Amino acid sequence: MDIFGLSIGELQKEVEAMGLPGYRAKQVFQWIYQKAVFDFALMSNISKEDRSKLKGSFTILPAVVKVLKKLDSKDGITSKLLLELQDGATVETVLMNHDYGYSICVSSQVGCDMHCAFCASGLQGCARSLTKAEILAQVYLCNGLLRQAGARVSRIVVMGSGEPMLNFDNVFGALEFLHSGEALNMSYRNMTVSTCGIIPGINRMKELARPISLAVSLHSVRDELRTELMPVNRAYPFVRVIGAAEDYALASGREVTYEYILLKNINDSVEDAKLLANFLKFKHASINLIPANPVSEKGWQRPDDRRIDRFLEELNRQHVNATVRKEMGGDINAACGQLRNQFMKKK
Ligand code: SAH
Repeated sequence: MDIFGLSIGELQKEVEAMGLPGYRAKQVFQWIYQKAVFDFALMSNISKEDRSKLKGSFTILPAVVKVLKKLDSKDGITSKLLLELQDGATVETVLMNHDYGYSICVSSQVGCDMHCAFCASGLQGCARSLTKAEILAQVYLCNGLLRQAGARVSRIVVMGSGEPMLNFDNVFGALEFLHSGEALNMSYRNMTVSTCGIIPGINRMKELARPISLAVSLHSVRDELRTELMPVNRAYPFVRVIGAAEDYALASGREVTYEYILLKNINDSVEDAKLLANFLKFKHASINLIPANPVSEKGWQRPDDRRIDRFLEELNRQHVNATVRKEMGGDINAACGQLRNQFMKKK
């Protein structure tokens, strides 16, 4: 049985069922979630006998997940991990070392079914959603890597492969776990969930009433073009998505971040910027412009810097808060799904 992701109460039941004292659960819990130790043999305040009993009955997921690849970018900030789960499924996780601390970009599904035209994650569709434990394991695996340096992840963005709103319970369950004092005590304010615009998910997030940041992948405010880029626009038209996101901003007090990928000669004209500003002008919103990472299967291109600057200037001129995302990890295929995709092609 794998005990990773159980609450302390659940773990205590399991430990007691083995005939060990209940307080062992608390010790194990501290080792795993506070010290990022996933090997019972290293849990030095537990008797040797009990350690070997625990080892005989339980596994701890971050020790079971295999790191197939770890690529460190030349930028000195970004590392990308390709992980293999118990059933052989692979997912990507990105770890970033910012001035303010470590942040992690986790995947919520194995692949993705949203079929956004520019994205590498969905090239093979979605095999399955990740469990709560698998989402948490991405964070703790990184904490395990950072243990030597005495550091840990302090921010999490659910912006890797997959659509988090289609795996709502596991994603938000994992975030709740990270928030709990027993685990990492991580503030909800340091967590962001990014969606392609699944309105029922945004509404459920509002009902949860936690100050988690919402990011919405917008990419176009021309209806036809957005449908072409993001087929989900048919089911959830962007005007309604912006409405739901604004409701969330008002309810949560958190500004919504709109992601807008800049694709050369597709959605990057000054006219596009004007339209975008019109939709977001009086909203509690900021825009994160993402110069496209070319995906070799797709043929989209990144606009040149002058065009990016013109787009940004137009937004700023209309007093819409916007920044251009610093590109990181380009040399290690850190853009959504690219590394996994390469790996799948070779298999
Ligand atoms: N499904 C969620 C989260 C995953 S995508 C969502 O749609 O928001 C994370 C972000 O990376 C999205 O904004 C996505 O549109 C963007 N992205 C995907 N492919 C990209 C590429 N080739 N270049 C730049 N950004 C990309």
